[in-house]
Amino acid sequence: MPISLVAGGAGLIGSRLCRRLLDSGHRVICADNLATATQANLNGLSAEAGFEYVACDVTGEFEFGPVDNVFHLASPASPRHFSEIPEAIIAANSSGTANLIELALERGARFLFASTSEVYGDPLEHPQREDYFGNVNPVGERACYDESKRFGEALTMTAVRRRGLDGRIVRIFNTYGPGMNPNDGRALIEFLRRALEGRPLPIHGDGRQTRSWCYVEDLAEGIAQAMEVPGTCGRVYNLGNPDERSVLDLARAVLAATGSDSPLEFLPMPPDDPVRRCPDISRARAELGWEPRVELEDGLLKTLAWYRQEFT
Ligand code: NAD
Repeated sequence: MPISLVAGGAGLIGSRLCRRLLDSGHRVICADNLATATQANLNGLSAEAGFEYVACDVTGEFEFGPVDNVFHLASPASPRHFSEIPEAIIAANSSGTANLIELALERGARFLFASTSEVYGDPLEHPQREDYFGNVNPVGERACYDESKRFGEALTMTAVRRRGLDGRIVRIFNTYGPGMNPNDGRALIEFLRRALEGRPLPIHGDGRQTRSWCYVEDLAEGIAQAMEVPGTCGRVYNLGNPDERSVLDLARAVLAATGSDSPLEFLPMPPDDPVRRCPDISRARAELGWEPRVELEDGLLKTLAWYRQEFT
């Protein structure tokens, strides 16, 4: 039975990945300090015989026995965290990545680093392919996230080249679904919560900036495949849904799903906010045989059903 360590396994994507791995017969160790997730995401998993939760900060000292796979998803990820806990973000993606690479090397385990579409910054090429170097402001407020993920990528590839690490990188585009933290300010969950409360939906700028929202189950499947499929060592994969939508479209889809008549509230654009964001997933399609399956409207209904069950 393979043993997988999922750092950040209590979070939105990590908890879904733990489920996917358990379903495939793995023993799963979830290492998380619950910095940005709640215990609630572990409720369904804790009852499983093959699942173990270990309270662990990946930036500090830790010890684990044998492991076959190390997934590094442990990082705060919401734009709200960029101004509230930037140092924690930088530490998780720099020393946290270095520590987990050491663990993988010591144990002879495969390693996967969860990077982000934010490495492309405010992109000048569209859609974004993995060979695009990006357009990042290295001193702006988002730099704690963008640049620390870029640094984590560099650490990973250096260990692959020089120390024989069996490592790969996934660049994750906006992901949503059951397990989101309703208070971390990410657009989709913020819209959902406010729509249900009859409060205005905050739109930054004119709302015509685009994103591509991927349902969490699809995303977790892509991550698992990037680890499992032979020949992925040293490769970088965009994982996301190429169905590009404007923020205004998203707000309207949330209003339709919830049946809410909340008004839209237009606010100033935050600095360095990307204007367009859409993944080119040709590489993941060709090499992993992966592509997302869940349409935004269906994923929204599933997320709404989960939200109602958990919070209303
Ligand atoms: P999340 O906040 O739901 O989950 C992150 C998890 O990491 C949380 O459970 C948190 O408690 C844990 N964590 C944070 N710092 C830690 C530390 N120092 N030690 C141990 N645990 C720590 O976020 P998510 O959306 O599930 O994101 C998971 C990963 O995917 C992150 O690395 C994030 O940067 C990346 N990502 C997510 C998205 C997205 O849209 N959800 C997009 C791009 C990249």
